[in-house]
Amino acid sequence: MPSTSLTSVSSRPDHAVSRLRSARLAASSKPYVARGSGGGRCAGCRLIASHCIQALRPAVPTRAGVCLIMGDIEALKPSNTGWLIADVVADTWAFGWSRTAVDPALIALLADPQWQPYVVFPAEYAPPQRVVADLHAATGNAADASGQRPLFVLLDGTWAEARKMFRKSPYLDGLPVLSLHPEQVSGYRLRRSAHQHHFCTSEVAALCLALAGETRAADALAAWLDVFSAHYLSVKRHQPLDRESEAHQRLRALGPTPPESALPPAAPATAATAASPDNSLPQESRPECLPAPASVPCPPTPP
Ligand SMILES: [Zn+2]
Repeated sequence: MPSTSLTSVSSRPDHAVSRLRSARLAASSKPYVARGSGGGRCAGCRLIASHCIQALRPAVPTRAGVCLIMGDIEALKPSNTGWLIADVVADTWAFGWSRTAVDPALIALLADPQWQPYVVFPAEYAPPQRVVADLHAATGNAADASGQRPLFVLLDGTWAEARKMFRKSPYLDGLPVLSLHPEQVSGYRLRRSAHQHHFCTSEVAALCLALAGETRAADALAAWLDVFSAHYLSVKRHQPLDRESEAHQRLRALGPTPPESALPPAAPATAATAASPDNSLPQESRPECLPAPASVPCPPTPP
């Protein structure tokens, strides 16, 4: 099985998830053709050209890092939101998960003393002594004093995949488990509160950034997801795209506005160019929390 390891990259869009996607495609025994690709999917954002969001991408510095451990076809899904994390968080890594093998680069990353890794997962699945609710509970101030940066390990896949990854990855067993409680994140409002039990992977990452005190990066990632979702749904549902939506304005307010000329012309999706879910991929079942399938870390379900 070819290596699926990737290194952190800051040049975008050639980032960790796009490289994992390429590696996964190369490992496929048959050609992978995404439906809608005939309309010209952008390699940078996975949307068709008329809906490209490349020119809108926020640029925010982040101290925290993200380590994505991804289910088998997760990186292939046009709706995967780990991709959006890699767009925004420069220090993002992505590894394909396997029960029988682990990439040495992943082990090295988790052991790198510049990082303090946290596995982000619901508390109920971990022994209580591993569970932390904030970034200082596990290490006291030791991590801060030694200059360690938080590294959020996110298990990106279906919920079933994520639980399997959590149970069957011995290299994660020694790490603190960060259990998210959005209501504890002061000053940060998760916009998509309709889904109480599951968050998209990028929403989880935004919450983690907020917990780490990186409010601007958290806001940027949340806005980036909203704008991506708006463009994605506009194509998928053949609906007009509002480039002045609240999400677009929120994203613009976070950083330099690209010149108007840099934006691709607005054009409604047509039947010929509209992207559809790939035949080879599961249907997205959660259009409201697009782009991800009911995803990994979720807050504990109230009794
Ligand atoms: Zn694009």
